[in-house]
Amino acid sequence: MKTVRETVDVLVAGGGTAGHIAALQAARAGVKTAVIEAGSMLAGTMTAGGVNMPNHFYSTMGPVVLGIPWELYTKSKEIEGLPIPDYTKRRPVESPGYYSYINVPIYVAVAEEEVVRAGAIIHYHEFISDVKAVGDFWEVTSLGRGIQRVTRAREIIDASGDSDVVRILGLGVMRDEVRQPGSYQYKIEGIEHEQIWEGEVQKIYEEAMESGELQKGDFSYPNILPFKYYLDHGGHNGTHIYNSDTSDVNGQTAANLEGRARMLRMFQFVTSSIPGCERAVLKTMYPRAVARETYRTEGEYIITKDDFMQATDFDDKICNAFNYIDMHSEARGCDVTFHDDQTLLPKVPFRALIPKGSARITVAGRIVSAQRVALGGIRAQCVCMAMGQAMGAAAALAVQRKVPSREISTKDIIALTVEHGAVPV
Ligand SMILES: Cc1cc2nc3c(=O)[nH]c(=O)nc-3n(C[C@H](O)[C@H](O)[C@H](O)COP(=O)(O)OP(=O)(O)OC[C@H]3O[C@@H](n4cnc5c(N)ncnc54)[C@H](O)[C@@H]3O)c2cc1C
Repeated sequence: MKTVRETVDVLVAGGGTAGHIAALQAARAGVKTAVIEAGSMLAGTMTAGGVNMPNHFYSTMGPVVLGIPWELYTKSKEIEGLPIPDYTKRRPVESPGYYSYINVPIYVAVAEEEVVRAGAIIHYHEFISDVKAVGDFWEVTSLGRGIQRVTRAREIIDASGDSDVVRILGLGVMRDEVRQPGSYQYKIEGIEHEQIWEGEVQKIYEEAMESGELQKGDFSYPNILPFKYYLDHGGHNGTHIYNSDTSDVNGQTAANLEGRARMLRMFQFVTSSIPGCERAVLKTMYPRAVARETYRTEGEYIITKDDFMQATDFDDKICNAFNYIDMHSEARGCDVTFHDDQTLLPKVPFRALIPKGSARITVAGRIVSAQRVALGGIRAQCVCMAMGQAMGAAAALAVQRKVPSREISTKDIIALTVEHGAVPV
């Protein structure tokens, strides 16, 4: 196999939700940046995973995450020909935050264009398989079809969603026996909603469950929502995959197979049994099953549920973490916990993004160092992207000052992200 060598300042491991923003921030700050992504597009769970709902740019109290994520979001909306939502003019809703949706093809193309324009190098279809420290550099090996790449980098941002680099380096990770289920995203279109009667479809669904035609998890939320919800959303974000573990290829393959089997079963059920769905079509299917949690990093600080619910004002806060706790389970479907007071705005401390006992490596995204229940809130996409922007800034400043990222003051990290549009914290 051909070996290719590359030297950069900052290497972003995984170009997903957090990683593509980290790469953009580092490159725009003027350091040579590469992003290695195992899949075929940027933004990970948000795009390839089909979870195209970045929450939340605004709470009902005002902006919580703007910066580079907001720039890409608004640019993609403009290309779509849709107005940029003016959240300040919206009426308060049942949820403490406002939902946003992206058009996946447009968002991916916009993000790619900006990353390339900023001078960052994108390597798709490559898995990081080995990482070692050599003097003041990291030497990162990635494998792709036909090549093995060896990248030298001063700083690494692990944005792999599963703490891949942290695990390769033998640093601490946390993982619970009971984890939230994963999901598989698809969308059934062409349902004639005016023909749907809530009571009738509920009965049909319950009979199918009783007869074994459908299985638990085909519709994720039977305990909290009527089956009509599944039809209202064309099945999107409505399937659970229990015990899924996408942190290795065997688990990812098993989750993809199970997700698609559930999708097909549901499509056949709704078109053959639900009045008003005879002409429905299964048009959209995303490439891979996605996980809500696998391995979290054990950082210099572990964010607790109390930190999240009471919005601890950390000395080293680097971004907001606004969301509610959204806990999915096999037993209950999904439970949500809102803050007592809508003015409470949780934060992420820098220490939760530094693997314990490490230097020149940070993490961003759902692998943040947090207790499982706290992660149920922090893992929202806008928070992951804000962490990515902050760690992109920290890595760039570290390279420019020739010190490890952990020595960069949070004041300077925030100043750089604010220069790039972020909400000050
Ligand atoms: C079903 C589901 C529904 C959700 N609903 C919402 C919602 O409505 N709104 C919301 O805001 N949030 C939602 N979330 C949460 C949110 O989507 C995730 O927490 C977030 O996207 C995770 O971002 P990340 O950057 O940590 O990981 P990802 O976006 O998954 O990115 C990780 C990237 O790293 C790459 N990678 C992994 N390992 C390697 C390797 N070794 N080498 C190279 N590349 C690698 C992967 O291919 C991937 O692209 C949901 C999550 C799920 C699973």
